[in-house]
Amino acid sequence: MSLVIVGSLAFDTIETPTERKERIIGGSCSFSALAASYFTSPQIVAVIGDDFPQEFISLLNRRGVDTRGVTREAGKTFHWEGRYGDDPNQRTTIRTELNVFQDFKPRLLQDYAAADIVFLGNIDPELQEDIRRQAQKPRLVAMDTINLWINTKPEALVRVLKEVDIFFANDEEVRMITDELNLIKAGKKLLSMGPSLAVIKKGEHGALLVGEEFMFGVMAYPCETVIDPTGAGDSFAGAFLGYLDRAGSFRPEDFRRAAAYGSVLASFTIEDFSVERLKDISAQEIEDRLQALRGLVSF
Ligand code: AMP
Repeated sequence: MSLVIVGSLAFDTIETPTERKERIIGGSCSFSALAASYFTSPQIVAVIGDDFPQEFISLLNRRGVDTRGVTREAGKTFHWEGRYGDDPNQRTTIRTELNVFQDFKPRLLQDYAAADIVFLGNIDPELQEDIRRQAQKPRLVAMDTINLWINTKPEALVRVLKEVDIFFANDEEVRMITDELNLIKAGKKLLSMGPSLAVIKKGEHGALLVGEEFMFGVMAYPCETVIDPTGAGDSFAGAFLGYLDRAGSFRPEDFRRAAAYGSVLASFTIEDFSVERLKDISAQEIEDRLQALRGLVSF
């Protein structure tokens, strides 16, 4: 099987209650591609400016990520700034500078267009739509989004939703889109808008998967040390889809396992800033956390 991921490669400026980090590596694609790389060899599509470090692209390559779909344009890389309060589930976007994303026309290379799984990571829904059209015959299409696009491009977002099988979003975003407070009702409403599975991420409270005849809850792997929650959602989605790509089937039991791996990979991401922890995890560390998670919820 094969997995294509479209998203942002970015610089993030992050403020937590104790620290501030300027222009560290971030972006929906960085986190999801690295998380997926523990299960498969994703192909990525993104745009970077002339200021983006080649070392990070080389790191992706060493982890088996195919970066032929990354284009470097003259100008500055996308830059996002976020601030966390004492509650790591609450974050405020301070600024979003699109920079080279402004004129980005994403193209799927010929071999990418034949991918079995396409992940439309968090970027402008008009770009997601464009990529969706270029994919030839995917077996599964998933998307993610954030409140900026729900507020600024709701029509395009609704059009993409119609064309996807899995929708990832956090609880706040799901409530915004559906106007429903109850997450089960909200999840079902989402299903009527296109996808067959809604994956509702709830930060440190885990995730709820809602399908037509299927519901599953996974807790977040409990971490004693939470340094920076940025990228947890993208890591969850990347591991989820990377696992499905490796499994090669999309049965309820595959979704359950995918969600458990999603929680595990997200737990590594939040233990440090940027991709510092995510970039180098052993297979044993992943399996140990999976077993620990199982132990925490079986009775
Ligand atoms: P997450 O914490 O999983 O929701 O993802 C955070 C990442 O999303 C950060 O590294 C940002 O660079 C990236 N991001 C934030 N806003 C946008 C946006 N409007 N478009 C693309 N990527 C974004």
